[in-house]
Amino acid sequence: MKFESILIRYGEMAIKGKNRKYFERKLQDHLIKKLSQQFSYTRVKKQRDRMYVVLNGEDPHQVMNECQQVFGIHSLSFAVKVEKDEQLIKDAALFAFKDDPDAETFKVSSRRADKSFQIGSQDLNYKVGGHILANTDGVTVDVHNPDVEIKIEVRNDAAYITAKDYPGAGGFPVGTSGQSLLMLSGGIDSPVAGYLMMKRGVQLEAIHFHSPPFTSDRAKQKVLDLAGKLSKYCQRINVHIVPFTDLQQKIHQQIPEGYSMTVMRRMMLRISERIAAEREILSMTTGESLGQVASQTMESMNAINEVTNFPVLRPLAAMDKLDIIDISRKIDTYSISTLPYEDCCTIFVPKAPKTKPTRENASYYESNVDFSKELDEAVDQTQIIEIKHEKNFDSEFENLF
Ligand code: ATP
Ligand code: MG
Repeated sequence: MKFESILIRYGEMAIKGKNRKYFERKLQDHLIKKLSQQFSYTRVKKQRDRMYVVLNGEDPHQVMNECQQVFGIHSLSFAVKVEKDEQLIKDAALFAFKDDPDAETFKVSSRRADKSFQIGSQDLNYKVGGHILANTDGVTVDVHNPDVEIKIEVRNDAAYITAKDYPGAGGFPVGTSGQSLLMLSGGIDSPVAGYLMMKRGVQLEAIHFHSPPFTSDRAKQKVLDLAGKLSKYCQRINVHIVPFTDLQQKIHQQIPEGYSMTVMRRMMLRISERIAAEREILSMTTGESLGQVASQTMESMNAINEVTNFPVLRPLAAMDKLDIIDISRKIDTYSISTLPYEDCCTIFVPKAPKTKPTRENASYYESNVDFSKELDEAVDQTQIIEIKHEKNFDSEFENLF
């Protein structure tokens, strides 16, 4: 006895009405791309309102593990396929049930699409239930709240049996909610922000401001490694590396210290908007969270945001740091984010940044200095690095749930 396929349930995606076909196609695409990196024989099939991964001999739990990383899936189950024969169905149900060694209660739900099958659904439930009780220890039936619901579908071609529900990653397939330019620093927050947007179906490109020689190559590599971790959910990410040294030095020399942080952030947003617009990307995403540091007060966000009318998405704005850290551990970015290499902000950060900057003051200080040359050069000299997902980005201990 072996598992033939994995049944995929879409959950939230199913409510999408007319767009559903598009969502399904994206999901199927992602599954095919993800699985083909590792497994030669799996096939992803769509049949009316369901999707299957046919295993064709590949290791069921390894394939399941990969499928659990794809956004847009609510839950998954292994399916056994057998001929429409009472004994084979009983054995298959017992086999499927045993996949969950912790289950203490179960119920059997049968459906007979093929009405010519001689055993009625109710009768089949009893027979299969009896077989499981007779062949297990300490297991009971619970029709209201079972640990495992064993589902039997007698169809025209064969009988299909599923048991344990495995949780999917949820959300929407990446790419179904447009694109955003993720402002990716080397810290803990921005990779988590990127992950949450991807989970919502957003395809990302990333932008990083780099200030050599004040920031080292290792700081840049750290950001590329973080992008590598994120690429797991979308196969590839373009990272735009912006040379930021000249602008930062000019800010440092010409802007009063209390406003250098605010002006630096405004410059980052201006450059990000220009690069997003060139790439037809309609928003930016940051890892800002209210109240964490001086640049992240309400006043500061207001003063920074003045320079763009593109939406700036801040998925962490209302989250606690500990919850953010939890996610960064789950997506395996935490250990990279906490490496000590200096970020451009850490180096030029003033001793006493204004926690309540205003738009008026920021504009006034900027109007005394001509930054246009440095801004143009930063955009022109931006380098694009494409990060493709590779299996060695993943740690063995990763587990989304
Ligand atoms: P993070 O953990 O993401 O670094 P943080 O709490 O350290 O966040 P800040 O350093 O104040 O916060 O940065 C706020 C946000 O600004 C970051 O989440 C990121 O989106 C963006 N940002 C900061 N520095 C850079 C950089 N060098 N390149 C690109 N984006 C940056
Ligand atoms: Mg930071």
